[in-house]
Amino acid sequence: MNIINEFDTIAAISTPLGTGGVGVIRISGDKSFEIAQKVTNRNDFPPGKICHGWCIDNDKKIDEIIILPFKAPNSYTGEDVIEIQCHGGIQVVKNILDVVIKNGARVAERGEFTKRAFLNKRIDLSQAEAVDDLIHSKTSDFAIQSAKNLSGVLVQKTNEIKNKIFNVASRIVAATDFPEDVAEPDYSYLIENFEKAISDINKILSGAKSSDILRQGIKVAIAGRPNVGKSSLFNALLNLNRAIVTEIAGTTRDIISETIDLGIPVTLIDTAGIRDNKELDKVEEIGIEYSKQSVKEADLILFLYDSSVGFTQEDNAIYNIIKNKKHIIIANKIDIAENFKNEFDSCLKISASTKNGLEQLKQSIKDSVLDFSIDDMEFTTNQRQQNCLARCKESLINALDGAKSHQLQDMIYIDLKSALLALDEISGEVITDDILNNIFDHFCIGK
Ligand code: GDP
Repeated sequence: MNIINEFDTIAAISTPLGTGGVGVIRISGDKSFEIAQKVTNRNDFPPGKICHGWCIDNDKKIDEIIILPFKAPNSYTGEDVIEIQCHGGIQVVKNILDVVIKNGARVAERGEFTKRAFLNKRIDLSQAEAVDDLIHSKTSDFAIQSAKNLSGVLVQKTNEIKNKIFNVASRIVAATDFPEDVAEPDYSYLIENFEKAISDINKILSGAKSSDILRQGIKVAIAGRPNVGKSSLFNALLNLNRAIVTEIAGTTRDIISETIDLGIPVTLIDTAGIRDNKELDKVEEIGIEYSKQSVKEADLILFLYDSSVGFTQEDNAIYNIIKNKKHIIIANKIDIAENFKNEFDSCLKISASTKNGLEQLKQSIKDSVLDFSIDDMEFTTNQRQQNCLARCKESLINALDGAKSHQLQDMIYIDLKSALLALDEISGEVITDDILNNIFDHFCIGK
């Protein structure tokens, strides 16, 4: 983000461009109230009160609007803010933004409102990242986790660790600066504190994989020979769950994938039947190559066979391709399987037609990739935060080694300072412009 001037009054359309009930145009900065006077038929905007009026361009009426005035510092950005709610049409919101710009605001950069909220200390950096996560959540569970981060839990946790390190560092500095008055802390005291801080960081980092799964989701491939019911299962799972993204590829022999919400985003891949047959035509051959590839890339494979036919040699050949990957064996068409004989120790019996057993299958998918309960998670971390924690831990391990070998304490202090700096990056107390811009560049305009 290349902010032209941090003190400009900025404006943007904050609702998605489309037709809807309401559209919101947000204005933030010193000139917000003055601009509101110019672009409406009102002169007074009591902060915190809902104001009704008309948006006007000179004498031309643009739309009937509601104005929400906020006075600094009690606003989203910490500055004077005017929010205009108008009718939710593509042109009307653009017309209002045009009038606002004509009267002294400039168009906001991506994420500039939230960046200002951070720079004005309304929120810390982890909360700003949570805003972005909340907006882009693909599943309801991730949205709930992002809301927890928005309330600041991650920084509360890291601040507890920071305070402990800070206390030790202060005692070292006091003893170094006033050797006659203050005694050096015992090495055993340093060791005890460093070990505790490292274990606290390990606890947070142990949730990193879970955070990544919640955020990015998993890929699940449905594999099996032709006609065992792969497409039927794919469709049945989609019908049970809201599809999130649609990417339907060309031919039916190609790969089809859809993402559904099972608490985590699950991208289901319906592979063309994997089989080794010399007489395959070209298109099917390509489909099968893709299938082998997607099975390779999947985090989990649903291996299907037809229980009304039994486990055949062809099934076995495909099973041998996938058996070394994480998989669930599924006996499909249980509704027409007379004398079903279970060939495996653990095998789920389902019917993609009647949907029998699908709830159990969904649970098994989740159980096989999640070693945690989503409800028990206190917060999530992203790659940047995990990286800061890892750097903090590395410095603490150096400090611990130093304490164990009775190194000079002002040398140990250098490692503690690095550990503290790494934690400060999580909240954004210490941060470079590059990192900051990288974060806010991913935001949408108007946020
Ligand atoms: P694919 O080639 O593995 O994708 O298999 P399809 O999903 O196209 O299914 C092949 C045939 O089996 C179709 O006629 C389906 O209607 C049928 N089928 C799929 N699942 C079931 C099931 O659970 N019970 C029954 N009775 N038929 C099924």
